[in-house]
Amino acid sequence: MSAPVDAFVGLGSNLDDPARQVRAAFAELDTIDATRLVAASPLYRSAPVGPADQPEYVNAVAWLHTGLEPDPLLDALQSIETRHGRVRGQHWGPRTLDLDLLLYADRRIDTRRLVVPHPQMHQRAFVLVPLHDIAPDTFLPGLGPLETWMNRVDRAGLRADPPAGRD
Ligand code: ADP
Ligand code: MG
Repeated sequence: MSAPVDAFVGLGSNLDDPARQVRAAFAELDTIDATRLVAASPLYRSAPVGPADQPEYVNAVAWLHTGLEPDPLLDALQSIETRHGRVRGQHWGPRTLDLDLLLYADRRIDTRRLVVPHPQMHQRAFVLVPLHDIAPDTFLPGLGPLETWMNRVDRAGLRADPPAGRD
């Protein structure tokens, strides 16, 4: 086991009470071997990417400290997805829970099963905004400061959940 590093995970759900799926997943991330949940972002609602005939998404980001290497961490994320009844079907289709490894320390990874930073994360408001809420000074390896991408991204269609001013 190596010294713990920071890792960020993107959470998304658009089936079967998505906010409940995401909240439960935060707790489960904290139970992964050699891993602890440092911070959980607020939840956001966003329009689906890809096929449009599906419910809107709830998205959030988790900050982890982990002693796991990237591959075993991805194994753990996929077993949480499976426990949430995730069925791998249509690409970008509806899902009970999607857990994407966004960032792992300052590493760039490009293997058959793992690409980090997660592709397109720097262009997606539903990733950038919750990440910025919990870790505004983050640097995206190969891409530059999070702040730069925050200033460019289109946030139309992203809403806080619950809306600001309500509980
Ligand atoms: P998507 O999240 O793009 O809709 P899936 O969640 O169905 O797609 O994942 C498809 C595959 O993406 C997984 O089997 C996994 O091997 C691969 N993958 C590549 N990079 C990552 C990453 N950074 N995080 C999670 N999965 C990844
Ligand atoms: Mg995924």
